[in-house]
Amino acid sequence: MFDEQVRFTPWWWEAAPPEVARPPSLPRSIDVAVVGSGYTGLSAALTLARAGRSVAVLEAQALGHGASTRNGGQVGSGNQKFTVRQLVDLYGEAKARALVNEGTAMLRHIAELIEREGIACEFRRVGRFRGCMHPAHYESMARGMEDLKRFAGVEFFMVPRAEQGSEIGSDRYFGGSVLPNDAALHPGLYHQGLMERARGAGALLLPFTPVTGIAREGARTRVHTAGGAIEARDVLVATNGYTTRALPWVRRRVIPVGSAIIATEELPAERIARLMPRGRVYGNSARVFHYFRPSPDGRRMLWGGRVGRLGSQASTGAFEHLRKEMVVVFPDLAGVRVTHCWSGNIAYTHDTMPHIGCQDGIHYATGYCGTGVSRSTYFGHKAALKVLGDPGGRTAFDDLEFRTHRFHWATPLAVPVVETWYRIRDAMGP
Ligand SMILES: Cc1cc2nc3c(=O)[nH]c(=O)nc-3n(C[C@H](O)[C@H](O)[C@H](O)COP(=O)(O)OP(=O)(O)OC[C@H]3O[C@@H](n4cnc5c(N)ncnc54)[C@H](O)[C@@H]3O)c2cc1C
Repeated sequence: MFDEQVRFTPWWWEAAPPEVARPPSLPRSIDVAVVGSGYTGLSAALTLARAGRSVAVLEAQALGHGASTRNGGQVGSGNQKFTVRQLVDLYGEAKARALVNEGTAMLRHIAELIEREGIACEFRRVGRFRGCMHPAHYESMARGMEDLKRFAGVEFFMVPRAEQGSEIGSDRYFGGSVLPNDAALHPGLYHQGLMERARGAGALLLPFTPVTGIAREGARTRVHTAGGAIEARDVLVATNGYTTRALPWVRRRVIPVGSAIIATEELPAERIARLMPRGRVYGNSARVFHYFRPSPDGRRMLWGGRVGRLGSQASTGAFEHLRKEMVVVFPDLAGVRVTHCWSGNIAYTHDTMPHIGCQDGIHYATGYCGTGVSRSTYFGHKAALKVLGDPGGRTAFDDLEFRTHRFHWATPLAVPVVETWYRIRDAMGP
């Protein structure tokens, strides 16, 4: 069912192809060097450049090579990883309230930014449907949603199984919830828009300029790259799931985890609308979850989940499990061809929380645990305010300890084992 011409590049790149231009020459010194050209780096660069700082964004590959042009384009608040009750158990009531409210502010922030900057990226408030994988999930999902509403005023409604036909053309779920304010966007166009705005504000974007090391020398920092060194007053590491050995402190704290997406061939819009009548973004309640949505033109199914076989991301076999999962939910798509397959890295952390701060004079913002479109945009902006010494840069996340683990080096090996264990638990029941 994979097209012979299948492409192993994001479908998003058809409308927003990566720039192939080589970098302009390196400046000798700069106010702020930002490492990584995803949403975190560009959002920070925009804020810094608008504040009058000279900024260079250093990117190892083509601009936007990382998750920011590969993701599913599902835009939610920063509150998707924990229930309110879990947060209260972990951090106490007051801190949980602050974290949840700031999570909600992240969704507001990205919507306002896109509107203010006039970024044409198919941003739409389509809402999110999350399907229950077991009957027992319905009650706990409803309780979680009520807590979110009580804590942060988040709007939602529950959809019982008997009525879910209005939301989804599938019997696979046992009802679900809808967050009507969640949104969808085109990740490639959003990234392109951020690049244009950052450049327009004066930031220098330098592709194919991998940072190979960072050394503090008094008040200045020397950033070593494959093309020479730059002196910077401040440095922000925004490399998330792609962090290399050149950035050891952050690398010891993030766990890269693969996520993958397939795009089907173009189908009649009515056929897609039968499966996803409200054109929302979708997910489920499983531990190893899948996520999907229609393409912005309403002609394709974009289906995402975990990567398949390791080390074989340019073969259809690695993506076949995604197609099978899609057909379990939508048997109607059994004979449909897949035209694009791709994957990318998300960054988990040992406490499953995102982290922002400054270590040994180097700023960082990272660890979005797979829900990073709004988080990275917001954290990039906040990290920039911190660099500027603006009190508006404070966040409820500032005092969370960014822990590593004695056996951190083994986490890439542990990820597939943990994933398999979670799949078994998903299959066993709630
Ligand atoms: C397949 C997939 C689906 C996803 N779906 C969603 C979704 O639907 N909704 C959602 O909210 N989130 C989603 N995410 C997560 C989201 O895309 C990320 O959290 C977000 O894009 C992170 O942005 P970033 O700028 O921090 O990092 P990235 O966009 O990953 O950018 C990091 C950059 O740093 C560069 N870099 C690394 N090391 C160096 C170095 N030494 N020198 C120079 N540059 C370096 C890399 O090349 C890379 O371009 C998804 C992620 C993936 C992979």
